[in-house]
Amino acid sequence: MYQKKHQAICRKILTNKRKTFDAGKQRATDSDIPYAATKKTLQIYTGQIRPQDEKSKYKKPNWRERHQSLIKSIREARSVTQAIKSGGPLPKFRPTEIPSDYVECPYCNRNFNQHAAQRHTPL
Ligand SMILES: [Zn+2]
Repeated sequence: MYQKKHQAICRKILTNKRKTFDAGKQRATDSDIPYAATKKTLQIYTGQIRPQDEKSKYKKPNWRERHQSLIKSIREARSVTQAIKSGGPLPKFRPTEIPSDYVECPYCNRNFNQHAAQRHTPL
């Protein structure tokens, strides 16, 4: 019950944040300053920063870790199928592993990557 309510709140925040995010672009478009001339874009143009640099503020996704956990879950799924086929004991259920760079929302206990978590949970 509460969780559902919270998810609605979170969604609201998410929508608001998106609007705020677009406001910067909107402002630049409305003014006589071309959007391309805004500081960050200029820095990208001049090669001072790369577009990806913005993302590097967040912890880089550990693709190796994710790859490993993907392989693991495939193996586990396979062993369950095997156990069902052979009538043997089912392997112990293990919840899906969440990558270490994921953040759990303290309110609704859903997990988000760093970027999504920032948008989802007001810090
Ligand atoms: Zn939440």
